Formats: sequence, C-alpha cells, structure tokens
Amino acid sequence: MTMSTQDPKTYQPAENCLHDRVILVTGAGSGIGRTAAISFATHGATVILLGRTVEKLEAVYDEIENAGSPTPAIYPLCLEGATEQDYQTMASNIEQEFGGLHGLLHNAGMLGQRTTIANYQAPIWQQVMQVNLNAQFLLTKALLPIIKTADDAAIVFTSSGVGRKGRPFWGAYAVSKFATEGLAQVLAGELEEVSNVRVNCLNPGATRTPMRAVAYPAEDPGTLLTPEQIMPAYLYLLGPDSKGISGQSFDAQ
Ligand code: NDP
Repeated sequence: MTMSTQDPKTYQPAENCLHDRVILVTGAGSGIGRTAAISFATHGATVILLGRTVEKLEAVYDEIENAGSPTPAIYPLCLEGATEQDYQTMASNIEQEFGGLHGLLHNAGMLGQRTTIANYQAPIWQQVMQVNLNAQFLLTKALLPIIKTADDAAIVFTSSGVGRKGRPFWGAYAVSKFATEGLAQVLAGELEEVSNVRVNCLNPGATRTPMRAVAYPAEDPGTLLTPEQIMPAYLYLLGPDSKGISGQSFDAQ
C-alpha cells in the first residue's frame, strides 16, 4: 500500500478540482452525503444522487442546479431491499447516461439499535448489515467494470471510530464499520496493480447531522463540526490529488 504525504484534513482543493468527473454519492439526501454531493458539484463534478427519499434528493438537485453547478442526476434506490439485478441495471443506466464513472462515495448508513449484543434484535442486525455493508459490496461489484475504465478513479468508504475500536452498545453499526474497513482493504489490494482505481476509508468524526443527533440526544450540536467543515478530506480522496493513495484509512477531522 502507498503511504500518504498529504493530510486530507488540511487539503486545500482547487476551485475546479473535480471538473469532468462523474461521482456517485449514496445517502445524498441528508447529512454528510447531501453536503458532499453539493460540494462535489461546486468543484465541477456531475453528481449522481442516490438515496431512498426522493423529496430529499430533489431538494439537493435543486440546490445544485440553482448554484449553476453541473446538472446532477437522481437515482432513487433503497439499499435495504435492492437486489443484485437492481445494481446491474443501475450500472447499465449510468454507463448509457454518462459513459463512465470516476468516483463512488459510500456514505449511506443507518445506526440501528444502541443496546447490548445480548438484547440486539436479530432483524435489525440484518437490516444494518444489509445497508451498511452488503449494499456496499453489491454496489461496488456492479459498478467496478465502469469505474475501471476511467483514467483516474476513486472509491471512498465511510468508516467510524467504532469501526476501529469496538465500543459497547454500538452493536451491528460498529461491526458493519469494522467490516467496511476490511472490504476497503481487500478491494484496494485487488485493484492496486491492475487498475487506476484507488480505494480508501474515511472516518468523518463527530459531525452535526441527523444521525449524530439520534446517537447523542443530549449533545449540543453547536459543539460539533458541520458537514461543510469536513469536506476537504472528501474532496482530496475523490479528486486527482490523491492519485496513488490506496488502501488507507483517514480521518476527516
Ligand atoms: P444521516 O442519517 O444524516 O444520513 C444518512 C443517509 O443515508 C441519509 O441520506 C439516508 O437517507 C441514507 N440511507 C439510510 N438508509 C438508507 C437506505 N436503506 N437506502 C438508501 N439510503 C439510505 O447520517 P450522517 O450524514 O451522519 O452519516 C453519513 C455517514 O457517515 C454514515 O455512513 C455514518 O455511519 C457515517 N458517520 C457519521 C458520523 C457523524 O458524526 N455524523 C460519525 C462517523 C461516521 P434518508 O435521509 O432518506 O433516511
């Protein structure tokens, strides 16, 4: 694996650093995914907004259009129920519509229960693993043939502090994030010598979003960084300046 020389947290993106890139963002309707989609578009990317709540995606679409950024696309999909065929169809649609893909941000995620393993409800465990892990595998697998044709491409998985050191009561969420780190490492190694695709993991750190508010209801959101403030790391890992960096796990703050 290559060693990084740039700290993504302090990266200063050029205005048009994602010019001519097509980037898919999962969970683009709210929180970090929404801000990432808008930020990518502001920096020149054509963004594919994937999510399960169309109204939220439409609001992000409008915001990008109104800012004069490249026109995005909306791809409604629920990651919990999507089948391998759904992902194949999506890949064909993207290839037809855009002719390629240069970036994939796996951002969507769900918290599940905050309880002990002993009390964890099995159906919720399955649901969290499906959305936070299995969907990433299926989506990546389907899109790999298109991404591999790009001259320069990046896949970023979203991790968490509880995906690096287990913490009581974080259940399937923590386990799914450990597995996400593993998936990223395996994939990075497989692609390193044979493609122009780099694969990295990014831990956003405590960030002011709806998920964080549910996880820490007593916390003052004003003490947290906003999604906008952690964008340098996202722009670095999705953009051309991280070329040659793969198989690593970064912190956005
Ligand atoms: P939010 O809950 O604000 O956003 C999560 C997004 O994922 C939403 O757009 C949501 O869609 C989407 N999503 C959830 N389930 C599905 C599904 N079944 N199908 C499609 N989309 C789905 O969370 P954050 O912005 O806080 O989190 C973004 C990522 O960052 C997650 O992977 C999270 O684990 C990670 N993270 C966040 C931290 C934080 O402090 N905020 C800290 C560490 C990691 P909808 O709005 O329609 O429900």
